[in-house]
Amino acid sequence: MIFSEFNLHDDLLAGVDAMNYLKATPIQELAIPKILEGKDLIASAQTGTGKTAAYLIPLLDRISHADHDHTSTLILVPTRELAKQIDEQVEGFGYFVSATSIAIYGGGKGDDWDKQRKALETGADIIIATPGRLIAHMQLGYVKFNKIDYLVLDEADKMLDMGFSDDILNIVDKIPAKRQTLLFSATMPNKIREFARRILTDPEEIRLAVSKPAAGIDQQFYMAFENQKLPLLAHLIKNSSKPVQSMVLFTSKKAEVNSIVRTLSKLGYEARGISSDLEQDAREVVLRDFKNKQFPILVATDVLSRGIDIDNLTHVVNYDTPRDAEDYVHRIGRTARASTTGTAITFISDQDQNRIVAIERLIEREIEKQSLTEELGMGKAPEYDPKRFGRRREQNWGRNDRRGDGKPRAQQPRPEAANETESGEKREGKNNRNKRRRDGKPRPQGVAVEGEIPAVVTAGAATVVVNADDGQATDKPKRRKKRRRGPRGEEQPATAPVPVGQE
Ligand code: AMP
Repeated sequence: MIFSEFNLHDDLLAGVDAMNYLKATPIQELAIPKILEGKDLIASAQTGTGKTAAYLIPLLDRISHADHDHTSTLILVPTRELAKQIDEQVEGFGYFVSATSIAIYGGGKGDDWDKQRKALETGADIIIATPGRLIAHMQLGYVKFNKIDYLVLDEADKMLDMGFSDDILNIVDKIPAKRQTLLFSATMPNKIREFARRILTDPEEIRLAVSKPAAGIDQQFYMAFENQKLPLLAHLIKNSSKPVQSMVLFTSKKAEVNSIVRTLSKLGYEARGISSDLEQDAREVVLRDFKNKQFPILVATDVLSRGIDIDNLTHVVNYDTPRDAEDYVHRIGRTARASTTGTAITFISDQDQNRIVAIERLIEREIEKQSLTEELGMGKAPEYDPKRFGRRREQNWGRNDRRGDGKPRAQQPRPEAANETESGEKREGKNNRNKRRRDGKPRPQGVAVEGEIPAVVTAGAATVVVNADDGQATDKPKRRKKRRRGPRGEEQPATAPVPVGQE
């Protein structure tokens, strides 16, 4: 479907054209008409499917042709990287439609808080924010949300996993009840549906089937205990049949990022890490350099890497088995674009075996579980026997199947296991979050899980919009001048569009 069929204003169509969006992606085809009709929407869509434009296009169409002297749109996102990426997309369209945006997120330099404050006082049509940082500003009284018409929750599952649900409900409490609410989530576990019920009104639902991995991806599964993963990784990189030109390694523990980077560097591979421990500026540099092919291996925590637009990789490594099967498909889809080939390596530790069952069910194929550690002198690998693990999980489930009042909880279907949070303790509530391990013992110091990011997001210093033209921070929302549409190539938006034909 082409965009002119959506009945959008001409200026926005010019923006879409300049972004080189030739036809709507499936999520856009389904979501745009519903959003234009004014419906609340709950949509399952991964990053990379064009989901940002699926809501930005109809919202910009509305906003730019309405009376827009106030903040009408609030977009809540889990990470500053995603906030920045969305802000850049608004900027891309902003050359053509008249709309302003501010990105509000933590982790920048000390003086950024004041700049953010000023930007919020000045106001903008669209505010894109991480919940913790936004709440901190709202508590000081200068954020005006009395005229919000549109609320978007992007990557809602990630926000809940990161413990943002109270902050979100708090924010929702302070904006008008009469509004249009759009919720996008990569996965759709029951907790998201329950959450959606609290803040959406009679929503329409869009669920896209997750596409199967491209045939060109060489999917490799390796059994490994935690202490075997690093030497095994080194072996696999050294002996890779294809040169490692661009690899993203996903780990769920930020404490591990540095040790992986160090090991790879010792082997002579240039690797750099990105986690919430890194200052915001440094993160942006690492990402930019990786995209510009300045170094070949990026080690990233799951949470940060989700939502980041990185494609065309030669290798993807799941250092920990992804907890959502859909995440697995999406991550490995970052290799083997446009009929090339790519390698996707996944490590399976003892306790992650049930996740593999869910992944194989989703991709409708079994992958050989390789055990190399013994022959490489690293000791025996875990035995692959998901039934054994499944039973143990089920016993644990049984234990958790009682509510505080002793009554049984409503039964969850087994496949939902793939959509569980990293560990049961994350669901205990904010204060106890991450303090306990699965066996009930306190988590050892220094073994942080990435779900702890919100603390950093809210506690760190602020950042405001960075002017994409000169990289300078600015305290004003970008008021973009409408420009006349010129021949393609002469006037390119700041965001370079990436074709999504492969999604
Ligand atoms: P997203 O899923 O929102 O992260 O988008 C992934 C990438 O696809 C971004 O770089 C977008 O600019 C790009 N994109 C979004 N919609 C389209 C489209 N209709 N045609 C081509 N590229 C698109």
